[in-house]
Amino acid sequence: MSMEENKTIYDVMILGAGPAGLSAALYAARGGLSALIIEKGTDGGQIAATDAIENYPGQMLEGESGESLSKRMAGQAERFGTAKAQDVITEAVLDREVKELRGEKETYLGRYVILAMGASARPIGCKGEEQYKGSGISYCATCDGNFFMGLEVYVAGGGDAAVEEAIFLTRFARKVTIVHRRDKLRAAKIIQEKAFQNPKISFLWDSVVEEAFGKGVLQGLMIRNVKTGELTRIEAEEADGMLGLFGFVGNVPNSALVKDIVEVDDRGYIRTDETMRTNIRGVYAAGDIRIKSVRQVVTAAADGAVAAVHISAECEPYE
Ligand code: NAP
Repeated sequence: MSMEENKTIYDVMILGAGPAGLSAALYAARGGLSALIIEKGTDGGQIAATDAIENYPGQMLEGESGESLSKRMAGQAERFGTAKAQDVITEAVLDREVKELRGEKETYLGRYVILAMGASARPIGCKGEEQYKGSGISYCATCDGNFFMGLEVYVAGGGDAAVEEAIFLTRFARKVTIVHRRDKLRAAKIIQEKAFQNPKISFLWDSVVEEAFGKGVLQGLMIRNVKTGELTRIEAEEADGMLGLFGFVGNVPNSALVKDIVEVDDRGYIRTDETMRTNIRGVYAAGDIRIKSVRQVVTAAADGAVAAVHISAECEPYE
């Protein structure tokens, strides 16, 4: 008997339980498909580590975090019958009618696949970054902000994430300095205005972090002005003993598993059509992992819905 004969063959397998994957699961299950969602970590993807989401329509519950929003999304998908697996997929075989996702624990089979693995933080790119990760350098303010209570913190980047997270970090840090490579922020105006009004936030314009240094923990930064080339050495105050550096310089897609199978651009983002189909039959992509202009919770959720609705329309009951 072949492996396929004694294993469940799902109509659709969804890889990644961020907003795109969870929305795809909800729509697939409600569309009458048997759906499996596979996640290696916690549900929610990037929003699981986001303190507040203010721009997801209808999301106005006082004090709700990205984590609680994703828990409700996951609960809703499960209520409509989505199966769930916690596993790390190490190999994808997608060029056949019944597709295989091979994981550390098991191999999963399905007729359609939705790739919704999202994106992760791009490294800051400074000297010493690897060495001080976890001992002064972080990419998650929600996870690590409270380690910097009363200290000085630097934030690299000028997009929505950098500015929002800088504002969040003012709850803990004595002073937060945004280090941005241009003299204008990329972040949405409403977010910028909040930061400009926050007395704990200051800016180092036209600047990048060149180097991180310290004895055991992060104690200083070398900042380079990209216009003048001037280097400025910043050191933690003696009484503090250390400082913090948070990196929010954009994201890289989590497409390593499939980048040699489906069509990707030169940065690794997956190309789809407007129905979320990739160039491989039966393989769709949704959310931050695909080439798109707006990466928001609402657009990720929309992608997942679009993919699942198109699969439901195409998918005949399996005998
Ligand atoms: P982003 O929008 O790509 O911004 C990255 C920032 O890092 C930019 O300011 C960029 O500078 C800077 N940068 C890039 N490479 C750099 C390098 N090597 N050295 C120094 N600086 C560098 O990324 P993001 O802020 O992480 O956001 C990712 C996506 O999620 C975006 O689509 C964003 O809108 C969305 N998001 C939305 C919200 C929200 O709506 N509340 C919150 C978080 C994220 P330049 O400006 O010079 O390019």
